[in-house]
Amino acid sequence: METSAASRLCLSCGMCCNGVLFEIVKLQPEDSIRELEKLGMKVNRKKTEPYFKQPCSFLNDCTCTIYTQRPTRCRGFECSQLKQLALGEITELEAQAKINEARRQVDQIKIMLATAGDTMTADSLTERVARVFAEQPDETLKSAIGELKLYLARHFRTLGNQ
Ligand code: SF4
Ligand code: SF4
Repeated sequence: METSAASRLCLSCGMCCNGVLFEIVKLQPEDSIRELEKLGMKVNRKKTEPYFKQPCSFLNDCTCTIYTQRPTRCRGFECSQLKQLALGEITELEAQAKINEARRQVDQIKIMLATAGDTMTADSLTERVARVFAEQPDETLKSAIGELKLYLARHFRTLGNQ
């Protein structure tokens, strides 16, 4: 089966599922919370809009293990790189380079977090950085997360994100 450029990019990225781009995903009225919970999703029902946390427990490497049953927001999400690729504004190689650079920055931050003793990998990157920074303010970490957020805003985020 032929794989599309978008699939190849997503399978090398995973940043909209792994707690880098988002901290939560809001469920929509058309999503069956019961069915998602049966699959093992931990749905937070306390707020008016139920949601689940990222990193998503259904992500295996960069693959969604409930792809055909994934929630509405997951189905609808396309980052800026995929949008630009679809419009022919960038090539797959250019999008791949942006993903590689974002992932390089994320890896650097993860090394800083591990060095600081943070092992809470089930939390989003933003939560982890905030926790470590509250305990031991570190300008290098602050500047690295600032640079990553700018990069993600410029190259990946779109209006109406999760
Ligand atoms: S951030 Fe974009 S390229 Fe990466 S997995 Fe999500 S949709 Fe795919
Ligand atoms: S359900 Fe699938 S598509 Fe949605 S956040 Fe989890 S891994 Fe990603």
